[in-house]
Amino acid sequence: MRVLVAGGAGFIGSHLCARLLREGHDVVCVDNFVTGRVANLRELEDLPGFDLCEHDIIQPLPELGHFDEVFHLASPASPPGYQRHPVETMRVNAEGSLALLELATGLGARYLYASTSEAYGDPLEHPQREDYRGNVSSTGPRSMYDEAKRYGEALAMAFLRSRGTHARIVRIFNTYGPHSDPTDGRLVPNFITQALRGEPMTIYADGLQTRSLCYVSDLVEGLLRAMRTPEARGEVVNLGNPEEHTILEFATIIRELTGSSSTFVHTEPAVGDDPQRRQPDIAKAQRILGWAPVVPLREGLLATIDYFRAELGLPGGHPA
Ligand code: NAD
Ligand code: UDP
Repeated sequence: MRVLVAGGAGFIGSHLCARLLREGHDVVCVDNFVTGRVANLRELEDLPGFDLCEHDIIQPLPELGHFDEVFHLASPASPPGYQRHPVETMRVNAEGSLALLELATGLGARYLYASTSEAYGDPLEHPQREDYRGNVSSTGPRSMYDEAKRYGEALAMAFLRSRGTHARIVRIFNTYGPHSDPTDGRLVPNFITQALRGEPMTIYADGLQTRSLCYVSDLVEGLLRAMRTPEARGEVVNLGNPEEHTILEFATIIRELTGSSSTFVHTEPAVGDDPQRRQPDIAKAQRILGWAPVVPLREGLLATIDYFRAELGLPGGHPA
């Protein structure tokens, strides 16, 4: 098959490209590097079957040939990232989605849209099921991301209903692993780099807010199943690991696994309405896709710590 991965130079996209190439597919990665990194493609760029097209998908797409599958992962994803690029974030999920939906529809290709658990906002239902409509501010400091993703979902459904597009939507919950940007400000990169450097670990507010972390190889398996399972067409499916912990618990586990003696420092709450609890209900993914995460938290964190050691030039690290 020939597959387009928009956002393929990013954290999740680079793992998806690698997996597709291992399966023998041809991959075209389209990325403008607004938050992606050349280093993420280091081991792919010389492989036969891999092409990089440096391009902003809100601009008219160049002629790229036929595709069987179109993955739309292009978007800043970390809160500091999308708050630094608010208009770009809205445009890539609106105009970028439009361009990729037109392309996929014209080619009769399958289309997968990477939405987010942020579509639920600061949820009032717990855990979050796909039929929960969310508690989202259309004007708050996270709105450029949350509302853009909700628009991207609606656009995919509009194409499916009016033009027969083979579209599906996944709502990705917090994902971690090698290739995530050590400087993007998210929980796992912050805590690991702080712990490895012996710096204080920054716990925002009381640290009793929760998240559920999914290892990237599990997430990629879920993306592929969502793309290829015929019953997923027209569906919204949560992908994430339901093992929920407080931020303080994650900090404690990371400090232990790195052997660090970093202290914890409680700082101001995160900018915006920091969702207080987040945990995916994955019954639908299990039922439709036969998918559930398999990588234990400590195993995934150890692999990520190894990667960050190498990124920071510390001894004992293994690049992914
Ligand atoms: P990332 O920032 O590492 O990757 C996104 C990629 O998209 C980057 O390489 C970036 O340069 C590219 N991009 C952004 N705008 C573009 C544009 N206009 N044209 C071309 N390329 C563009 O983020 P990620 O963590 O890999 O996330 C991938 C997708 O998954 C995003 O859509 C994100 O919203 C979604 N998601 C991620 C998480 C997570 O925990 N990582 C959670 C929920 C949803
Ligand atoms: N967080 C924290 N310290 C940090 C980074 C994040 O306490 O250095 C908290 C943040 O307040 C949030 C959670 O960790 O409750 C996850 O934040 P992240 O930015 O990774 O992503 P989010 O899930 O908010 O999109």
